[in-house]
Amino acid sequence: MSEGTGIEGFIRSNLVSFDGYSARESPETLETKLEVPVESVIKLDANENPYGCSPRVNRALATCPDLNIYPDAGQTELRELLAGYTGIGAEHIVAGSGSGDLIDLILRLLVEPGEEVITCVPAFTMFRFSTRMYGGRLIEISRDKDFAVSVSAVKAAISKRTKIILVDNPNNPTGNLTCQNDILEIVDSGLPVLVDEAYVEFAGETVVPLVSQYKNLIVLRTFSKWAGLAGLRVGYGIFPPEIANYLMKIKLPYSVNMAAIVAVRESLKDIDYLMDNVMAIIAERGRLFRELKKIKFLTPFPSRANFILCSVRDGLASEFHQKLQRKGILVRYFDTPRLRNSIRISVGKPEHTDALIKALRETEEEING
Ligand SMILES: *Cc1c(COP(=O)(O)O)cnc(C)c1O
Repeated sequence: MSEGTGIEGFIRSNLVSFDGYSARESPETLETKLEVPVESVIKLDANENPYGCSPRVNRALATCPDLNIYPDAGQTELRELLAGYTGIGAEHIVAGSGSGDLIDLILRLLVEPGEEVITCVPAFTMFRFSTRMYGGRLIEISRDKDFAVSVSAVKAAISKRTKIILVDNPNNPTGNLTCQNDILEIVDSGLPVLVDEAYVEFAGETVVPLVSQYKNLIVLRTFSKWAGLAGLRVGYGIFPPEIANYLMKIKLPYSVNMAAIVAVRESLKDIDYLMDNVMAIIAERGRLFRELKKIKFLTPFPSRANFILCSVRDGLASEFHQKLQRKGILVRYFDTPRLRNSIRISVGKPEHTDALIKALRETEEEING
């Protein structure tokens, strides 16, 4: 061993002080902090689909005969199915174990230690995770006060070391969209540009049709949100075919498991059912926004996704988060240099909104009184 007495000497130097991904606490681990039974927790902290997956998925998985067989490493059926769903050729498509897996794979393909990744913050925290994993430097460009991407600031931040520019659209955690012209102006830099469309079914705007016209535009999608499959892990990317070919070579061969393939097949046979749920969530997003506006401690931001970010008055975000948690309602809390004193609330079913608003009113009274 080179130096010291610990195992650190063997660990890759950029990972010795790596702090990992801060995933949500699960309801089970929160048990002692709750005043309600775990079963009645209302989970509005991870943008999961409150309606669950298609019942066709449950039925097919209950009788799936092929679990002893390795899935197709070439993803032939999966890529064809996704081509049908997205309207672009299968040669553009690569699937992964969630779109998080694809973010990791793309940065693994592109980023060498010391190279730069540009993102517009506040943004999805997986970008930071994977950039650090490969020893890259994350260049964080602040969004403006309405969370719009500053295209000129992004362009000014490009250096010889820049390998990729990442934009969530709609953005997590802020919920706003970046317009196609702004995205294209960034794409015109010629650098690889990744547009993460995890919430596209809730937003209705996509740049997928443009991928075949550019050699540097990448779009990521997922089944976690609209199709209610977060627990099964399946996402996909739409790439220029050259990039897709590289990714097919470097991915782990069986990164998409057999159950996930079955789930995609069945979900795509049940699009009308799933989109009805998406429509219900969109309608509920409108009602939730109007209700949140009436809580005087909160300022909600308009959202095109399945969550609403709120800034909380008087530095009380942490207190709101804690009090809601005790009442069994989980929301996401932010207090970082990029996003002060905020909570992000996933859109649930109407009864979840009712329970949340009631709890928020009680919290408001507790704080006032
Ligand atoms: C939820 C989310 C995803 C989905 O990740 P999966 O790994 O597919 O579950 C991707 N990007 C963003 C911005 C998200 O918020």
